[in-house]
Amino acid sequence: MNRPDLLDQLARAAQERAQRGLHRRLRAVEHTAAGCCSIDGRDFVVFCSNDYLGLAAHPDLVTALQRGAAEYGVGSTGAHLISGHHRAHAALEQALAAWTGRERALLFSTGIMANLGVMQALLGRTDTRQPGLCLQDKLNHASLIDGARATAATLRRYPHADVDAAARQLAAQPDAAALLATDGVFSMDGDIAPLTELAALCRHEGATLMVDDAHGLGVLGPQGAGSLANAGLSQDDAPILMGTLGKALGTGGAFVAGSAALIDGLVQFARSFVYTTAPPPALAAATLEAVRLARAADDRRERLRHLIARFRTGAAQLDLPLMPSTTPIQPLLLGDAERASDAATALETAGFLVGAIRPPTVPQGQARLRITLSAAHRDEDVDRLLDALPHALSATNL
Ligand SMILES: *Cc1c(COP(=O)(O)O)cnc(C)c1O
Repeated sequence: MNRPDLLDQLARAAQERAQRGLHRRLRAVEHTAAGCCSIDGRDFVVFCSNDYLGLAAHPDLVTALQRGAAEYGVGSTGAHLISGHHRAHAALEQALAAWTGRERALLFSTGIMANLGVMQALLGRTDTRQPGLCLQDKLNHASLIDGARATAATLRRYPHADVDAAARQLAAQPDAAALLATDGVFSMDGDIAPLTELAALCRHEGATLMVDDAHGLGVLGPQGAGSLANAGLSQDDAPILMGTLGKALGTGGAFVAGSAALIDGLVQFARSFVYTTAPPPALAAATLEAVRLARAADDRRERLRHLIARFRTGAAQLDLPLMPSTTPIQPLLLGDAERASDAATALETAGFLVGAIRPPTVPQGQARLRITLSAAHRDEDVDRLLDALPHALSATNL
């Protein structure tokens, strides 16, 4: 017998990754207040969280979670279709549909599972339909790509934000049922997808548009309804909207919103919805409170815009390698993976937690610091980060 050992192979792959300086490590943090945390007793200002509105520790959410737990217990006790779909889940789904201007919404436990579920339902293998086509932006979130790869559909990735390339790919296969999926706000670049143009293309080609708005919801558009609302696109223009609840909303989970027919189809065929335990109802109660707060949070969105402008102006004066983003995601493109790690380490020494994003999360040669801003930051937090950045970057050039 000459069978290779899987665990040995795994350990060798991890070693090889470590040798290239790309090892990922897990650290336990304690969040001490919105925008701050401590690790092993050391305090940091956090510039890498997705808590864009600073709601994750909001006292009203904490109270809603506590009340929900007192009222409903902790576990949901089952899958949504069995015993787990609580009134609190239904109320949250209604609130999410109303907020995003869609007919219905359906909760999923995480964004990864929502994306997987949409792909399974629309593109999964059945006896009666031909395998479809799935077009995706090259920089889409891993869960959209993985979701499509797990179906029978042909996956084609078009160059980032290149609507003409997407049009050519669609035109090349006029007889295939087609889903075009894009991030609304790109998670590692912070730029906004050309949604109006993509919606027009899909309408023209008879393709279905899906937008993953993990980073737009709560942040962009009237009442923070997201990047589609920001672009004035309705359910007709963009029939599938996926949103996550663990970012600007400050809780956890995800949902898909669209027509009643879409939602019913997901209930039938999205395996990541059917075969999993419903999230705790108290979490749904807390998220319902988060939706109320986020819709009314124009002051926090204004604060965020102010901080984004302050950061960009300061960074431009310092000649830092800003990327063209108007959202709270403000990456600095450094190129080399080691340089990004070293810069993040230098910033930690100065008291700032910033994510070093390296391949394979971003393409080779495009490692970066992913700086994210939150309405919870003070002006002086941003100013102090700007003071620390030139030193942290020059330390990496030695
Ligand atoms: C975070 C994220 C997801 C995954 O959502 P989770 O709820 O964290 O699983 C999906 N898509 C995008 C664009 C994301 O940024």
